[in-house]
Amino acid sequence: MECRICGNEELESFLSLGMSPLANNLPSQEDLAEEQPVFPLSVAFCDTCKLAQLTHVVPPELMFKNYLYVTSTTQTFRTHFTQMAEDLTRQFKLGKHSLAVDIGSNDGLLLKGFQKHGVTTVGVEPADNLAALANKDGVETINAFFDHTVAEQIINKYGKADIVTANNVFAHIHDIKSVVKNVKTLLKDTGVYVTESAYFFAMIDQLTFDAVYHEHLSYYTLTPLVYFFKHQGMEVFKVEQVNTHGGSIRVYAQKQGGPHKIDASVPVLLAEEKKKGVERFTTYQQFGERVYDAQKKLLTFLAQAKKEGKTIVGYGVPAKATTLLTFCKATKDTFSYLVDDNPLKQGRFMPVSHIPIVGSHMLDQKKPDIVVILAWNFAPEIMQKLAKYKEQGVQFVIPLPEPKVL
Ligand SMILES: [Zn+2]
Repeated sequence: MECRICGNEELESFLSLGMSPLANNLPSQEDLAEEQPVFPLSVAFCDTCKLAQLTHVVPPELMFKNYLYVTSTTQTFRTHFTQMAEDLTRQFKLGKHSLAVDIGSNDGLLLKGFQKHGVTTVGVEPADNLAALANKDGVETINAFFDHTVAEQIINKYGKADIVTANNVFAHIHDIKSVVKNVKTLLKDTGVYVTESAYFFAMIDQLTFDAVYHEHLSYYTLTPLVYFFKHQGMEVFKVEQVNTHGGSIRVYAQKQGGPHKIDASVPVLLAEEKKKGVERFTTYQQFGERVYDAQKKLLTFLAQAKKEGKTIVGYGVPAKATTLLTFCKATKDTFSYLVDDNPLKQGRFMPVSHIPIVGSHMLDQKKPDIVVILAWNFAPEIMQKLAKYKEQGVQFVIPLPEPKVL
């Protein structure tokens, strides 16, 4: 495969998680009769533009047409995106005269924040179920992948956009060149493109390799993004580090020669990345080795608990849980069940291992000895909700970077 930013064909692999099922395609009872497809999950480094990326691209239609992840389900994201809309409205003086477009708009949470200030909003969302949900909720949403036709459709109806956002989707897109070309078409010359993605150095620091799954094609740091935008006739003028997904970067870009001065945050983070070894393959290689070590520790912990006759369940079934559970070879014998508060996931199963996903009432019906918090980035929120079980003696465990009892 060639690098999606610079075309380099000599990518160097540094982490292989083997064959893994699609993280967000949780089979229902009827689906269990069919075998769930698995695809290689391996990450490689490009020495030219410094982008870390998956070596295998699964066709997006297989992953994004019916999406179970609803942004508004978690309080953390409700707060985050409401706050983000406030921030951006203030920074770029958005109001009744403005148009905001969100790519991968999910259930329209961010756009609702803009609407509060009278901004005209359009969402673009490929998942049929989510687009329907947003439209029903008063957030106009085009049910499609963002492409040239969609950009033209929006321009014809509303004119060009003041702001285009894409949160936790830019890493999901293989052909980011054509996405940015279409963003440029859609944006006013004074417009801004804001994109938030999981930050690869946060992943390295916290060893959160479970964020590696087929949807996440790119693992961004600022360095390759600056390179990328520059080659697309755009420039990064500001960057912020934010807390979502265990650490993300919010990157602001404008058309080359746009009105915004380059903020100090850009050279500062670039220098910091250089110091951390963003340009050296060994940085990535060492990360890979630490992941294999974490796998060993987690397997040992689970095996020991089973030997002591303890029952283990998982809490939270985000996409990353599929990677984590596949990587630690979890079966129905290791995890009795998995709890998720999203009703769309309840009644479904983990692919391949077929561990059942249930509502939290099961914690009362079949009380476990150990709860492994698979949605580790929501641990404080989850612990608050489950405080009474802790009082009853249930052990809560964060699985990474090494199993830790809370
Ligand atoms: Zn490259």
